[in-house]
Amino acid sequence: MTIAGSDSGGGAGIQADLKTFSALGVFGTSTLTAITAQNTVGVSAVHEVPTDIIAAQIDAVMTDIGADAVKTGMLSSSEIVETVAEAIRRHGVVNLVVDPVMVAKSGDRLLREEAIHSICSSLIPLAAVVTPNIPEAEDLTGRPVQSDDDVREAAIRIVAMGARSVVIKGGHRDGPPTDVLYDGHEFLEFTTERIPSTNTHGTGCTFASAIAAGLAHGLDTPAAVARAKDYVTAAIRASYPIGHGHGPRVFGVFSQCDHQFATYDEVIQPCQDLTWFPAGSVFRNSMPRSSSIGRNAMCSVGPWTTVPDAPLFMMYEGPPTANGSPGIHHVLARVFKDVISRYRTMKGCRVIRKGGWDTHGLPVELEIEKELGLASKREIEEYGIAEFNQRCRESVFRYVKDWEVMTDRIGYWVDMHDPYVTLENDYIETGWWILKQLWDRGLLYQDRRGTPHCPRCVSSLSSHEVALGYRENTPDPSVFIKFEAAAWPGDAPTYFLAWTTTPWTLPGNTALAVDPDAEYSVVSVADHQLILATALLKVLHDEYSVVETRLGSELVGHSYRPLYDAAEFGSGIQQFVRRDGVTQLEDTDSYSPHVVAADFVSMDDGSGIVHIAPAFGDEDLALGRERGLAFIQPVDLQGIVTGSYPFAGKFVKDADPEIAADLDSRGLLYHQGVYRHTYPFCWRCDTPLLYYAKDSWYIRTTAVKDRLVDINGEIHWYPEHIREGRFGEWLRNNVDWSLSRERFWGTPIPIWRCDGCQSTRCVGSLAELSDLASIDVGDLDLHRPYVDDIAWPCSQCSGVMRRIPEVADAWFDSGMMPYAQWHYPFENPEIDNDGRLPADYICEAVDQTRGWFYSLHALSTLLNDDLAYRNVICLGLILDGRGRKMSKRLGNIVQPDTILDTHGADALRWYLFTASHPGEPRRFSDRLVQQTLRQVLLTLWNVYSFFTNYANIDEFEPSQIPEGWRPEAELDRWILAELNQLVQVVDDHLDNYNPTDAGRRLAEFIDVLSNWYVRRSRRRFWKSENDADKLGAYATLYRCLTTVARLMAPLAPFVSEQMYRNLELRYETHAPDSVHLSAYPVADTALIDGPIMEATRLAIRVSSMGRAARSKAGLKVRQPLAEVVVKTRTDAEAEYLSQVRPQILEELNIKELRAADGYGDLYVRAQELATDDGDAVVSVDGYSAAMESGYMVAVDARITPELADEGLARELAHRIQNLRKNARFEITDRIIAYYDGPDEIARVMTVHGDYIKQETLSDDLLATVAEDAAKSETAQIEGMEVTLGVRRLTDV
Ligand SMILES: [Zn+2]
Ligand SMILES: [Zn+2]
Repeated sequence: MTIAGSDSGGGAGIQADLKTFSALGVFGTSTLTAITAQNTVGVSAVHEVPTDIIAAQIDAVMTDIGADAVKTGMLSSSEIVETVAEAIRRHGVVNLVVDPVMVAKSGDRLLREEAIHSICSSLIPLAAVVTPNIPEAEDLTGRPVQSDDDVREAAIRIVAMGARSVVIKGGHRDGPPTDVLYDGHEFLEFTTERIPSTNTHGTGCTFASAIAAGLAHGLDTPAAVARAKDYVTAAIRASYPIGHGHGPRVFGVFSQCDHQFATYDEVIQPCQDLTWFPAGSVFRNSMPRSSSIGRNAMCSVGPWTTVPDAPLFMMYEGPPTANGSPGIHHVLARVFKDVISRYRTMKGCRVIRKGGWDTHGLPVELEIEKELGLASKREIEEYGIAEFNQRCRESVFRYVKDWEVMTDRIGYWVDMHDPYVTLENDYIETGWWILKQLWDRGLLYQDRRGTPHCPRCVSSLSSHEVALGYRENTPDPSVFIKFEAAAWPGDAPTYFLAWTTTPWTLPGNTALAVDPDAEYSVVSVADHQLILATALLKVLHDEYSVVETRLGSELVGHSYRPLYDAAEFGSGIQQFVRRDGVTQLEDTDSYSPHVVAADFVSMDDGSGIVHIAPAFGDEDLALGRERGLAFIQPVDLQGIVTGSYPFAGKFVKDADPEIAADLDSRGLLYHQGVYRHTYPFCWRCDTPLLYYAKDSWYIRTTAVKDRLVDINGEIHWYPEHIREGRFGEWLRNNVDWSLSRERFWGTPIPIWRCDGCQSTRCVGSLAELSDLASIDVGDLDLHRPYVDDIAWPCSQCSGVMRRIPEVADAWFDSGMMPYAQWHYPFENPEIDNDGRLPADYICEAVDQTRGWFYSLHALSTLLNDDLAYRNVICLGLILDGRGRKMSKRLGNIVQPDTILDTHGADALRWYLFTASHPGEPRRFSDRLVQQTLRQVLLTLWNVYSFFTNYANIDEFEPSQIPEGWRPEAELDRWILAELNQLVQVVDDHLDNYNPTDAGRRLAEFIDVLSNWYVRRSRRRFWKSENDADKLGAYATLYRCLTTVARLMAPLAPFVSEQMYRNLELRYETHAPDSVHLSAYPVADTALIDGPIMEATRLAIRVSSMGRAARSKAGLKVRQPLAEVVVKTRTDAEAEYLSQVRPQILEELNIKELRAADGYGDLYVRAQELATDDGDAVVSVDGYSAAMESGYMVAVDARITPELADEGLARELAHRIQNLRKNARFEITDRIIAYYDGPDEIARVMTVHGDYIKQETLSDDLLATVAEDAAKSETAQIEGMEVTLGVRRLTDV
């Protein structure tokens, strides 16, 4: 990946950058760099060296990196902003790197602010660059960036605006600016390497910008940073002579994390060391004991599963097909299956998780057809069914390795060593047994129906398959046809006007249907008459006059001339004839088309006269059977017109226009147009489906329709609305399951039919087949063509029993997995009552509602009159980062491996769980996963690192926590109250199949643990004495971390395992080997303290609002203020406020807190100034007041000389601290500090001397030039030039 950098530096810098970096991959362009999903929009401003050469160089570079748009030359800043805004609009830019120095140089301030705001509101500046110490520098919010504090606060503000990271540039001054920022703040130091050079500030900016750009690209891993660093170092070395001046040396990245900043490589990668789990047989130990569970021992006896009576929890794996590599949507379903299974294991269940592979069906055949270049069924037969099926068999495991690796990497624990495989004989045999059960009960039957048929696949589709392929707005011809009535009274030729959207069915017409109760009109048009429904006269275009009206029933029986005489064009004619109570088709020579009555004639569109072709639509076929109509089939199964019609040999859809033209030439076409409607296409091959009357095998699901509906009422659907909605609707409209497919690679339907007397036999087992055929079929491959060779003499005639050629719908395979995965009933007959039927839990995406969810439900209802699954999570679709469906065409498909490599499995899982509730669609992008990693996992890791670092220093061990210890400190009581409430809530959510809210609550807790508990407790860990308070802090944080590790283990199995091993397993030899074998936490409800939680939440809110108020007024955090006025919403809160007053004052560095009377003047005036929704920071009466949801926090913005002195004292102490650090003194070293500066400095040093000495461990503060100082620095402080120095006392 190219890292693009942006540089606002001078022209010389740019020139040098281009020369060197273009070869290295880091590009110095100025000034805004916007990065689209894939490419870069570079906008260059060359202020100082506007030469054509440079412009051309920039052009070349931008072209090299595949920028979408390049604009270079003498651009004003506003032009740059406009260009970027344009790029955002035109190219869908998603990332933006902003260098504010350019912004500061823009002449038109208003334009610049507006532009920046519009840019920032339309997309989040993922990274921004802050360059301190340039006279005109401002940050994105238009605030000056001069001092180091300005830099820090600018960074905070930019992060608050949504930036993911802020790069601090290092150029333009002698001192290392960001050193100052490390003190207790949140920066990562990239490098302190000093590279002398003549003019490197441009380089420095470029480097910083390159990193910023890298960050925006999601490359904030040490490896990516190192790469960027290498580029720059090499570039500098190559181009600048060693000399004087200042080089790039210190760069910091600001993040919202506290403490040390951990990175992906340091944390997540080692956690995902997959060797742990197999080494400890952890997964196997989490599975149930083998003795009662089938022929294959699934696991050894582990510590957890030695509990013999542990309840069983059954998870059914919906089988994927491994003939393609797994995508992110597969990851989604798999992690949702996993989280519930892990949770149940920790709750003490034996969880059965048998893997499975779906191997049969048309998708597999289609792949092989493509590979072999076969275009039709006939070509497959010519190629050879045996070879063809062999290719199918080989292909279905082609990507099995990818699947196994992905499954491991995402931490989905499913037994892949003993999966069920739908192509195995055992599996198929269970299918035969099921079909035999249905056969014996009369639930499996053959029927001729108008069936949805794919002419390309030459196979029927079931109604659930048809449901997968509807397309809206499909254009079809709309033709009104004139059928000439025979012997109509009068002279004028008279026609029945009928309407169709499928002209190709017209040669199959054998009747016209009317509504017997509707009124029809005979109208005179030009020289002839038309008959149509009175209600639909509006379809006539020409002028007409009504001659007479008749009821539909009066038209019934009237004959008309066929459009095409079947005999003349070589189509066979059959007729439905009823003999001995059975209606069947018999061949005949002639037929007489006529008008019949039907109850399905619509008066909404068409003409009220329906063209009937029994060979196609199902209604037509039923009507034909009922009325004894003729049956003409002029189209073959490939959709080709047969016979000698003028359009014979054409595919039906291609024949449509020719038929229309032919009828037109014969004066039989009244009108034609285009009709747009929703039409089904083959979901596998995209061919428009035809309705085609043919014989198929059906499972009579309608026999149990009411039970299907009733039993569905017992299933817990997540989300709940699917039960009555999508799924319930489907069941209420149930039709029989079309089972047979005229294909090759599938479970053969075990029905044999006599080629003589046509008697049939359904075979229910291999033993039965062996008996019948008098050979041992035990080793036979049950697939076609081998099974087709098994035949035996008919017992009733001299014919031979041969298998019907059809195979079963592949959804039958997946629906029978509850039985077939155990080879039931041939083995494991006990699954009936040992808890393995039904499943406790299944999970797939919403597209399986009519697929697997239905096939499981239908078979279970038919066979057991019972549930197939008790709980089901039905997942929404995965969309891209911008909310679009992922597709190859859009090129927005995300590969799971890329995400796993970059952010790790835990971040990926966490994001998928928490982004939206299971049934909702979720947006997915690399960036969104990265945010999760940072906000949740790295934040937790930083707390964990903080704990382990100090625990090691203090030699803390959990055994030091006394038996029966209870928290005493307020902070401890608060966080443990929060923790125990969290345990209750998370447990409850997971028990209710809701990992989304479980994860969100965990994330909230991690946030307050880090940003309030740890931050406010830090001094308790720092202090040197090991007292009860310190032990209390350790005990509390230890408990928080170990509990959170267990709570989150089902969601983030890797990080939690690492924490568990280090925090618990190390100390307790009897602890289970893995967090995944440990028990799920149970809340200590006695510790849940409502008032303390309310009070602390209030303190957190007030502090956060107070910081916003300070920030808006430009008041540095280090500057003490006189007063804060707080308005709460309720009396209870006012009460809490007095409790948490000290915390708030300390947080905000303010001396007094006053509770505002709810109707006090200040609040009323602030409210008037606030925006409509009441949330804002307003300036009122010398206060800066933050308003939010009925709260007000107003800080007194007036700084008295005394307060200013105090602020200055803090600044000085702070700088001396940094000098200590730079000089690498020990924390406990006592020192002497030197200073030199204006009188004001001396005065403050005197007045606040005690404070400064105490803060800096200084024995003395000397107003002298510090010649023997170990470290000294001259800097601008509050506009004064001040020199400070430090020296260790022991070095004196
Ligand atoms: Zn098809
Ligand atoms: Zn027979």
